[in-house]
Amino acid sequence: MKVLVVEDETGLAEAIAAILRKEGYSVETANDGKSGLEKALSGRFDCMVLDIMLPGINGLDVLTYLRVKEIEMPVLLLTAKSEVDDKIKGLDCGADDYLTKPFVTGELLARVRAMTRRLGLNQDINPKYGDITLELKKGELLCKGTNIVLGRKEFQMMEILISNAGKITTKDDFVSKIWDSNDDSAYNNVEVYISFLRKKLTMLHSRVQIKTRRGIGYCLEGA
Ligand code: CA
Repeated sequence: MKVLVVEDETGLAEAIAAILRKEGYSVETANDGKSGLEKALSGRFDCMVLDIMLPGINGLDVLTYLRVKEIEMPVLLLTAKSEVDDKIKGLDCGADDYLTKPFVTGELLARVRAMTRRLGLNQDINPKYGDITLELKKGELLCKGTNIVLGRKEFQMMEILISNAGKITTKDDFVSKIWDSNDDSAYNNVEVYISFLRKKLTMLHSRVQIKTRRGIGYCLEGA
């Protein structure tokens, strides 16, 4: 899996590259829009992390050009907090996802993984968040060398929580992806399985916690 990181702050570009390399991705960086675009057009990369504010050609123009050229590689946009409009424009231009700076390592990895998984690019890469890893083939949750088996629904819920890292997952998200019906029992099931998952995280002595956002949903903390 080859990732292109386009970011003009060289320190940040190298930090992102290091995080991704540690996870087994092969990474190249570019520090301005023009060289980023040239590399993206080379067809050597599976996906791209693209900053919006770049010298020369900005990230949105790079993205627009790629999509006009029908290059459909997944693109994760990096935006500053003040660039809310750019975020919306970016999604309109064909970005797959965006991440607001500053971000934590776990969020970046979760977004890159989710983005590439949608294309079936990394089915062999196990989702990770903080100190936990979801072992896809074994259906287990791993933390610091200890494994615990997850039930099928627990597994699906944890996978959704990790792929949504940094965002809130609503009960509707779980119900629509995991249960066939959306009756009250399905909603109650979400709470039940969340409590099972919390117990298992505690048993594993993980730093990761599933936090409740009352009336909204759940999110992971502890990356
Ligand atoms: Ca920048």
